[in-house]
Amino acid sequence: MCGISTWAATSYGRRGGRYWWIRALAPPAGRSPTRFRRRAAGYRPEEVDVVLLTHLHRDHVGWNLRQEGSSCRLSFPRARYTVHQAAWDTFHRPEVQEALSLTYLEQAITPLQRLGGLDLISGDLKITDEVTAMHTPGHTPGHMSVIIASRGHSAVITGDVVVHPAQVADADQSFVYDMDVEAARQTRHRLLERIEAEGMVMAGGHLPEPGFGRLVRAEGGRRWEALQDQREWSALV
Ligand SMILES: [Zn+2]
Repeated sequence: MCGISTWAATSYGRRGGRYWWIRALAPPAGRSPTRFRRRAAGYRPEEVDVVLLTHLHRDHVGWNLRQEGSSCRLSFPRARYTVHQAAWDTFHRPEVQEALSLTYLEQAITPLQRLGGLDLISGDLKITDEVTAMHTPGHTPGHMSVIIASRGHSAVITGDVVVHPAQVADADQSFVYDMDVEAARQTRHRLLERIEAEGMVMAGGHLPEPGFGRLVRAEGGRRWEALQDQREWSALV
């Protein structure tokens, strides 16, 4: 059996002195991913050229694959599924799979290679004139963020470099699932400084609704403020 949906969850807590907070997105119950995506984005699955996986944690790899009879198929049959080489290598090491209970890999990731849909990259990748995948390691090896520059606007989809607005105010705050805490901290500082300096929109799957916001200065500190006007972010996507 292959294919998993990204799970829906909101949870938070503290473990070992490190805070964690997760809000993951999922299709409404009973909706297939492809139907959901087609409705949401207005595109058919076969029109998608590139699926960029920021990293290979379970809540970021749903909908890659689907089961059709006894066969496992690509959900987006013409797409190149793009993964950083370091992420692929790390998540396929037996000791990492055992330590992190990566039992979903065979359902959601590993078959991409034998189905011929996988592109492994190293470093950054210019996907189009407007979209660039940027290597932002730390949360996992080979973690990627996405820079979008279009129509005079620019935005960053952070992946899990930032998972909570508290990390905007204090970029030293680590996330309990950061695999390399120090590399993640350095990456987070670097990315937030760039976002602020260039006035970019910052988006992330775990950030509060609508997930798109800007960095603002208030009372000597920096904070993330959600965009209130949908037109501001829908111009980018
Ligand atoms: Zn993650």
